[in-house]
Amino acid sequence: MTTEMKFHVLTLFPHMVTGGLLTGVTGRAAEKKIISLNAVNIRDYTADKHGKVDDYPYGGGAGMLMQAQPVFDAWKSVTGGRNIRTIYVTPQGVPFTQKTARELSRERELVFLCGHYEGIDERVLEKVVTDSFSIGDYILTGGELPAMVMIDAIARLIPGVLGNQASPEEESFHNDLLEYPQYSRPEVWEGVPVPGVLLSGDHRKVEEWRLEQSEARTAARRPDLYGKYREKQQVIKMLSKEKRNNIHIMESLSSGKGEILYAKEDRLLVYDRASRLCMINARDLVSGEKLADMIPEETGLAVVSEEFLTEILQERGYRISSRCRQLLYTRKETLPVKYKDIRSVSMEYFPYICAHYHGEDAEWAEYVRERILAGDMYGAFAEGRPAGFIGIHSEGSLGMLFVEEAYRGRGIGASLEAFGVNRILEKGRTPFVYVEDRNELSLRLQEKLGFIQAKKTFFWLEKSACK
Ligand code: SAM
Repeated sequence: MTTEMKFHVLTLFPHMVTGGLLTGVTGRAAEKKIISLNAVNIRDYTADKHGKVDDYPYGGGAGMLMQAQPVFDAWKSVTGGRNIRTIYVTPQGVPFTQKTARELSRERELVFLCGHYEGIDERVLEKVVTDSFSIGDYILTGGELPAMVMIDAIARLIPGVLGNQASPEEESFHNDLLEYPQYSRPEVWEGVPVPGVLLSGDHRKVEEWRLEQSEARTAARRPDLYGKYREKQQVIKMLSKEKRNNIHIMESLSSGKGEILYAKEDRLLVYDRASRLCMINARDLVSGEKLADMIPEETGLAVVSEEFLTEILQERGYRISSRCRQLLYTRKETLPVKYKDIRSVSMEYFPYICAHYHGEDAEWAEYVRERILAGDMYGAFAEGRPAGFIGIHSEGSLGMLFVEEAYRGRGIGASLEAFGVNRILEKGRTPFVYVEDRNELSLRLQEKLGFIQAKKTFFWLEKSACK
């Protein structure tokens, strides 16, 4: 299985692209084979004996146009007729945003087409382009810088590209907020001291101050984003009235993973794009139907806590994959971890985890890989070999617990759970888990650790032919 994300760039200036991207963070990612970059010179594919790739536009007008033939042959050389998402960077495209970057970072292969002069013959664009993106309302001389901007923004979201995986979650735009101001040494520079709270050592106060600063900055500079943020905060406040039943949605929204597709009174549709997961709250059949109609096409999973919603979804091609209890951990204190040999695992343990988690299934293997690279899989070790593991799911819940039969009864499971809880608390998040409805043993383990149960039963549904 090839695992790197492939970027192909069709360009008249391949050295500009490789020079810019095979440097720094993206360069290291290419060395580590997390990404690969293939810059293809469109000129190499021209049928013109003088190497020409452009001509005058029909109907007259200023400037030259890139011709269809060399662009099409260059595109064919990389795709070989395969159906690969092909992006034309153009000022006429839809605005490229952090959200688009996140969505594109989940592709395995992308082709970028860079225009020059006055652009490209429309006929080839119609034939090969699947998406058009603009990086802003201004005109550049060529598509190389926009393609590089996009690849940089996409690549850094791929697990493993940035050393510190926490950082994308704290940055501007992640949660509809701009980032807070930051300071480094010296403590006083040109007579200006660093804000005192940052030197206090009080983690909670620092977090509060940063949030206030982010909010104030966003309200002043980006009222459009601030409006979205406020809406989300109001929904979270409403959900907190029944926190036990709603913790999965609250966590999804407050971590910035979930976006509100619809919110009115007690009707709510939240979509986690990364997990292709819909979360729905509705009180009656009519509102349930209305929300179900709004579920994005690409959704693969849904979680609901009303039986009638499962019926609505089953009519739309979903099937129930599990009936669960949902439990949350409300304390702020970390848990003692009795079994000591537990640590974050690297890709070295990928085969081991796959073997014990959904076996040969390729889609699950891809999910495990992504979780390991995100730094969210933890292994327990005994006598120098793995004895079990636990992980944090992409939608935020703690799960995937496994302990080898030979090592059961030694408290390894409880320690793995406690270890996972502590990691989630460190991220400033609330730990929650799903436990299969009749798994009394697991329910008891969670409760012993301090988890409390939601009153409702939760149903996980998957769209047929999806995981
Ligand atoms: N005549 C074109 C128009 O008005 O849309 C502009 C052509 S521009 C001078 C040449 C190439 O640069 C475009 O084909 C595109 O690939 C790239 N380009 C320029 N500005 C861009 C932007 N803001 N976003 C994305 N690509 C851009």
